[in-house]
Amino acid sequence: MYDVAVIGQGPAGGIAALRLAEAGHSVIAFDRKKRVGDPIHCGEGLGKIALEHTNYPVGDWAIREVKGNRIRMPNGKSVGLMSPGYSIHRWGLDRTISDDAVAAGVERHENLKISRVTKENDHWSLFSKDGKVAKAKQLVIAEGRVPNIVTQVGLKGNDKLRLLPGLQYKFKTSDVDFPDTDYFDFYIDPMFAEGYVWVFPRDGIFNVGIVSTNGAKKGLDYFCREHMSVEPDKRIKNELGDKQNGGLIPRDGPIPQFATKDAYVIGDSAGLTNPITKGGVHVGMLSGEYAAIAIRNELGTGTLTPPSHAINCHELRGRYWDSCGKSLHPDLESHIWYDRILKRQPWTQQKFVDQSKLIYSLDKRTLNLIGDIYEGRNYSNLPWHKMLGILIKNPDLLPMAGKLLKIKASLKVTETYGW
Ligand SMILES: Cc1cc2nc3c(=O)[nH]c(=O)nc-3n(C[C@H](O)[C@H](O)[C@H](O)COP(=O)(O)OP(=O)(O)OC[C@H]3O[C@@H](n4cnc5c(N)ncnc54)[C@H](O)[C@@H]3O)c2cc1C
Repeated sequence: MYDVAVIGQGPAGGIAALRLAEAGHSVIAFDRKKRVGDPIHCGEGLGKIALEHTNYPVGDWAIREVKGNRIRMPNGKSVGLMSPGYSIHRWGLDRTISDDAVAAGVERHENLKISRVTKENDHWSLFSKDGKVAKAKQLVIAEGRVPNIVTQVGLKGNDKLRLLPGLQYKFKTSDVDFPDTDYFDFYIDPMFAEGYVWVFPRDGIFNVGIVSTNGAKKGLDYFCREHMSVEPDKRIKNELGDKQNGGLIPRDGPIPQFATKDAYVIGDSAGLTNPITKGGVHVGMLSGEYAAIAIRNELGTGTLTPPSHAINCHELRGRYWDSCGKSLHPDLESHIWYDRILKRQPWTQQKFVDQSKLIYSLDKRTLNLIGDIYEGRNYSNLPWHKMLGILIKNPDLLPMAGKLLKIKASLKVTETYGW
């Protein structure tokens, strides 16, 4: 019998397996992919803060540094979010974390899908289509956006209706008419319903992708032609040989409960993405760390103490995080501690989810006026006089001021706690 079974070796499951093996536990990990990391479901952008919060070292999967993000309005004017990050090889990141876990002692099985789990007294049994494959005292569910096992342990999984479709192409920089800068650009426009188009500069290549509920391919093809003067057919294969990549993203906040006795849900399976950027690698890795802490406590090799480098309850102050003033009892049951500490993270607060969604509900005129107000400044540097001047000229837009402040607040959470 293993101490822990981890289902899924994306960044969330990889970190959980790694941290538990480092603590000396016997860990078995599964991924249904033939090769962990392949195919890619990602725009391949990662904030530096993700590595700081999870104390994971930067590797050769990070291929270019960027200074920050620019949120571009339909008129091209932008609002800045100057939180630095990397363009990454996403398969390289997933593979490296999982390989580190194997080097630390994890027994990894690729090309093996767990279809069923059952609880028997003091342990979980895991089954593939061919029968029982393992027994483990603790279970980590890291299956990604469409989990099958979460409901089998008695928790509520991601609602499929809450998933946002994404699609990405790659172009050689020399094939497009687009400036190569050290920024990630996000184009918000109601024509990309509930989402945006991104352009991420890399090593002589641009990643150009979209999340949208009204036809991702149509929106992306339009953007390539209109904004980059390139035919979509000019796209090149990625390093794994695919001419496009995509997938689904949880967008509406987390599942109601993150753990039950001896079973922990992490990453996309728990609906843990940043609702404003839809990025999920950072919060996935962080939830993997927290699950590992809870499980170590349960198995007697650790205590329920957040790592000093991760977001810590005591750091969370102000109006979003009132509940964080209360301490997390060290004698809580491990799974309850895990559930509570995740619910105290800024990015799981319903208020943040609601504020984040606001920007995707604005019409073109309002977005353009926000662009006019900011004209490239960082989101925190709101020019009040300019905003008042524009509101006086357009009194029907007065409600926009309140929305703008809420959007500003959600960008602050994203800048401070990662995207
Ligand atoms: C188009 C697109 C672009 C994105 N861009 C970004 C971005 O730029 N930056 C960012 O931070 N986030 C981005 N995201 C989100 C990010 O990819 C996810 O949030 C992240 O992958 C979540 O990590 P995870 O480990 O929870 O899940 P995943 O990475 O999905 O890993 C889950 C793993 O579990 C395996 N698995 C599933 N079920 C089973 C089973 N039953 N048995 C065994 N194995 C199983 C899967 O094969 C998979 O390898 C993007 C997502 C999409 C779709």
